[in-house]
Amino acid sequence: MTDLSRFIRDVPDFPRKGIIFKDITPLLSDPAALAESIRRLAERVEKPDAVVAIESRGFVFGTGLALHWGVPLVPARKFGKLPGKTVREVYSLEYGEDTLELHADALKPGQRVVVVDDLLATGGTAAATARLVEQLEARVLGFLFLIELTGLGGRQALGAHPAEALLAYEVVGEGPRGASAAGR
Ligand code: AMP
Repeated sequence: MTDLSRFIRDVPDFPRKGIIFKDITPLLSDPAALAESIRRLAERVEKPDAVVAIESRGFVFGTGLALHWGVPLVPARKFGKLPGKTVREVYSLEYGEDTLELHADALKPGQRVVVVDDLLATGGTAAATARLVEQLEARVLGFLFLIELTGLGGRQALGAHPAEALLAYEVVGEGPRGASAAGR
């Protein structure tokens, strides 16, 4: 089994002072490591009816997982990007708030969905995505992340839904929301 942490680069003080940005581009540039990360994520949950991937780095892993399982890929996008009728959820950032959308016809009631992103920090983004899924009366089977930053309350924000990550890093010396708002 490959040590995937070798393919994650820490970028201190990006996008602003005090944030250690987890850069996944070394993983993206290594086809074998990227394929292994998708395979290992897929082993963590049962096959869903659809994959909901969070803009934008979640699209990478979400696409891989949707192809792996042979199920639809549903993008959760920032406000204003989806052309059709949408449902919306607002969530808090360190400064202010943001909005995510799904196409209103993207999921059918009762479908079992896995929500995918590259990284779990405070959990605000993933929790908002779960609320979007629930607005469409679909069901969240669980969450998959490549990376979890522990100590920021992310898991608690996701409630009872199972959450799995291939790599975990403890955040030290930052405020409770210190690693968040790093942008997507
Ligand atoms: P949160 O909503 O606080 O769980 O933040 C998660 C989202 O912000 C994910 O889409 C990540 O891509 C991004 N993010 C937050 N913190 C970082 C970080 N330290 N490095 C890279 N991305 C981050």
